[in-house]
This record gives sequence, C-alpha cells and structure tokens, in this order.
Amino acid sequence: MSTTWHVLGAGSLGTLWATRLARAGLPVRLILRDHDRLASYQAGPGLTLVEQGQAHTYPVTGETPDTPEPIHRLLVACKAYDAQAAVAQLTHRLSPDAELVLLQNGLGSQDAVAAQLPLARCIFASSTEGAFREGDWRVVFAGHGFTWLGDTSQPTPPLWLDDLHAAGIPHDWSTEILTRLWRKLALNCAINPLTVLHQCRNGDLQTHHCEVATLCLELAELLECCGQPAAAQDLQSEVERVIQATAANYSSMYQDVANARRTEISYLLGYACQAAARHQLSLPHLQQLQARLVNHLIARGLPRD
Ligand code: NAP
Repeated sequence: MSTTWHVLGAGSLGTLWATRLARAGLPVRLILRDHDRLASYQAGPGLTLVEQGQAHTYPVTGETPDTPEPIHRLLVACKAYDAQAAVAQLTHRLSPDAELVLLQNGLGSQDAVAAQLPLARCIFASSTEGAFREGDWRVVFAGHGFTWLGDTSQPTPPLWLDDLHAAGIPHDWSTEILTRLWRKLALNCAINPLTVLHQCRNGDLQTHHCEVATLCLELAELLECCGQPAAAQDLQSEVERVIQATAANYSSMYQDVANARRTEISYLLGYACQAAARHQLSLPHLQQLQARLVNHLIARGLPRD
C-alpha cells in the first residue's frame, strides 16, 4: 500500500497536485483549515480540475488538522505567509519519519518550517506550473511547466518520486534547489514589483529597460554575496527573455494587488533586501523599490508584509 499524500491547502497548487495524484489512483487526503471549510467542501462532489477546457472532478477525502491519523507525507500548498502556522497545527500528527514537500514561492518560509521540525525531512520545490482558482474547489490548469525538488541537507532522492511519474507531474530531482529558488526569486524581484508600480503587463517593462537593468546588476551582486554565483549568471538576459516570453501576462504580484489579496513580498523582494542588509550590502535601487512597493500596498489597504 502506498503512503498517503496529505495535501495541506486546497488552493491552486494543492488542487493541481491532489487531483493528479488521485487520478493516478494514489491515496490522497486534503487538510482544510477548519470545520466550516470542511463542511463547504463536503457539500460538493470533490475537487475539480479544468484542463484544456475539460473539467474532471475527483472525490478526494477531506479532513481538518484535528483528525487523529498520523501523517507520513505532507505536501504544503499554502502561501508562503501561511505555511509555518499551517504546519504548526499538524506537528502532533507528524510521524518520526515524516517527509514534507514545500511548494512555496520565494525564500524564507521553507527555513521557518524546517526549523520548527528538526526531525522531519523537508524537501523544497520550485515550480513553473501555473494554476488559478475559478471558485472554491475548482482550479484551472493554466500553464504546463516543470517542478524541481531538492533537499539542502540530503542529496538522495526519495523513492516516492515514482508517484509523481505515475501522476504525470513533470519533475526532476535537483541537488541545486537553493540556486533554483534564488534564481526564481531574483527574476521575480526584477519583474513583479515593477509591474505593480507601473500597473502594466510584463511586456510593458520593455519600455523601462534601464530600471530593469539597474535592478539586475544589484540582484546579481546580492546573489554573488549570498554564495549563489550560478544564480547570478546572465541574470539580465534571462530577465529580458522572460519579459518577452510572458509579454501578454500580468505577474502574480500584479494579480494579487489587483484582486486586493495579500502579496508574498516578504518572501521575495523583502527577503532579498533583508539578505542585503545582513551582508551590509548597499543596493539602493532594490531598497528604493521595496519602499515604493510597500507604500503602494499601504495606500491600497493591503498588508505591507
Ligand atoms: P492559493 O490558491 O491561495 O491556495 C492556498 C491554500 O492554502 C488556500 O486554499 C488556503 O485555504 C490554504 N490554507 C492557508 N492556511 C491554511 C491552513 N492553516 N490550513 C489549511 N489550509 C490553509 O495559493 P497557490 O496559488 O496555490 O500558491 C501556493 C504557493 O505556491 C505560493 O507560495 C505560490 O507563490 C506558489 N506557486 C503558485 C503557483 C500558481 O500557479 N498558483 C505557481 C508556482 C508557485 P482557504 O481556501 O481556506 O483560504
């Protein structure tokens, strides 16, 4: 019998993973916030994934954090700012050999979760897959992509990667997961805040070429200083390539602000600025960008962190 996949968070990525694992016949259970959310979920037929216009519903079993059964494998699919508290509610249920997969964007939340669970194996993930919620319990698979998984303290891949093969989740084991997460963070810092401040699509940043280039120089300096020279390599040309390739898209941070949702700023630009401060590195444009973004969020009544 395969180990059950407990999925914490039934949002976009949680649903994208839970439905594909369930479709492959693997045991999956969904952990919802509380009894109200569980009742709402149980009033419907299950989780629906819309792929290329086709909707399929999977009756994945739901539960709340206070369900007594132990958890051996936990996929953490909350936002970065919720991950630590959401996992803390489950510590009493985690088995001594528990493994966690952390899907959060940016950096900072993974270390916070790992620090509260010194005995568990925490696997970090970086994904280019895209999904969004069309409503409660219904998610659209918007962009096919790839997920890299890795463990900063143990290079051996877990055997359950076979489950991901069976579920058709494109992935690879990476011994350089931190480099991948730093690179993605740097790309995000160079693009997303500017799309919020200029209120534009990614492609419109081509008219702010100098501003982007200056940020890339500072971000590359930061990556070098943080021991991530590989993540710094050709950063500006990749940023320009991403801006072009995703020209018609609105960045995730733009969409969060436009929909009056909390952003993950503290785990992206905020994390970068904190790392710079720790290294006593002066990165004036990056710091100014953060100040402008925070002011923008406050002016819209959104959390500054
Ligand atoms: P999301 O749609 O907002 O889903 C987050 C889910 O976590 C929500 O369903 C929320 O519950 C749940 N949650 C929060 N606290 C909880 C708790 N204490 N117990 C149980 N559930 C809890 O977010 P997402 O878009 O999937 O993003 C998750 C992470 O993946 C983020 O770091 C994001 O940056 C990253 N990511 C997302 C994508 C994407 O395409 N969506 C792509 C790459 C990376 P409620 O429903 O009750 O609010």
